Amino acid sequence: MAELLKVEHLKKYFATPAGQLHAVDDVSFVINKGETLGVVGESGCGKSTLGRVVLKLLDLTDGRIVFEDRDITSISEKDSIALRKEMQIIFQDPYSSLNPRLCVSELIGDPLIVYKMYNKDGRQKRVYELMDLVGLARRFAFSYPHELDGGRRQRIGVARALALSPKFIVCDEPVSALDVSIQAQILNLLQDLQAQQNLTYIFVTHDLSVVKHISTDILVMYLGVMAEKCESKELFRKPYHPYTKGLLSAIPVPNIDHVKRPVELLGELTSPIEPKDECRFLARCKYATDVCRQGAPTYQEVEPNHFVTCHNVREINNL
Ligand code: SF4
Repeated sequence: MAELLKVEHLKKYFATPAGQLHAVDDVSFVINKGETLGVVGESGCGKSTLGRVVLKLLDLTDGRIVFEDRDITSISEKDSIALRKEMQIIFQDPYSSLNPRLCVSELIGDPLIVYKMYNKDGRQKRVYELMDLVGLARRFAFSYPHELDGGRRQRIGVARALALSPKFIVCDEPVSALDVSIQAQILNLLQDLQAQQNLTYIFVTHDLSVVKHISTDILVMYLGVMAEKCESKELFRKPYHPYTKGLLSAIPVPNIDHVKRPVELLGELTSPIEPKDECRFLARCKYATDVCRQGAPTYQEVEPNHFVTCHNVREINNL
């Protein structure tokens, strides 16, 4: 498989009055063409910031980004704008990400105007092609966002992202604002489009169950750091990090015996501002020992292609 995107030791810190906020702290991964990396974690774990830094919508603090064998870490603003043709984003909330004063046709055609593609007739033809592609009936071409339901609005978001024929898309919680029945439709659409157009995705979500089937690999993030990364199937079969175990325990499952599963994830996220040199999951971890207070754990390969950041991973999982 050919690599499309390589991210090495990426850091993104924000200056705050209380000190540096470590939103993304030493994150590395590779995504091959046509594959999906699911990035999972609670709100505030840095997953959306990671997506925006990769897309060059935010400057990075440190690290390296390579896209199609080209180092794009320090490219100019002009080159970043040109690169945006290849790299796009689908936003979480179709209600607020669409300009309410533009009709569907204008919303989908807008990126084509920005990049000076097609004349007026050609643009309208391309808009209809995109509407067909995302399953949005042409009769809605001159409707406004408020006249459409959430699923149709998110189809506009998908069509806008596809307008410039990108190779890579960051899907930033694209279904979390939608009803469960509509979520499945949009997930199926994204999977079909990926297969048809050999698209590569980063799929950001707080809900592990959403990325189970769509992701090739899953990266679990906690307070800016990588907690665990491996193939999607492997993560659901053998979660090794205490945080991943907690996330999985919170997924509701039908239970005919009415036996309550213990919820393993207790407490709240701590602050990512000037974090101490200790495990960031310490305050919530029932497996914590003294060594967890004495220094942050390093990211280690505990089984082939299965990486975990935990001092006690072998003892906890009898490896
Ligand atoms: Fe828990 Fe310690 Fe592992 Fe952190 S390093 S997840 S505190 S056992």
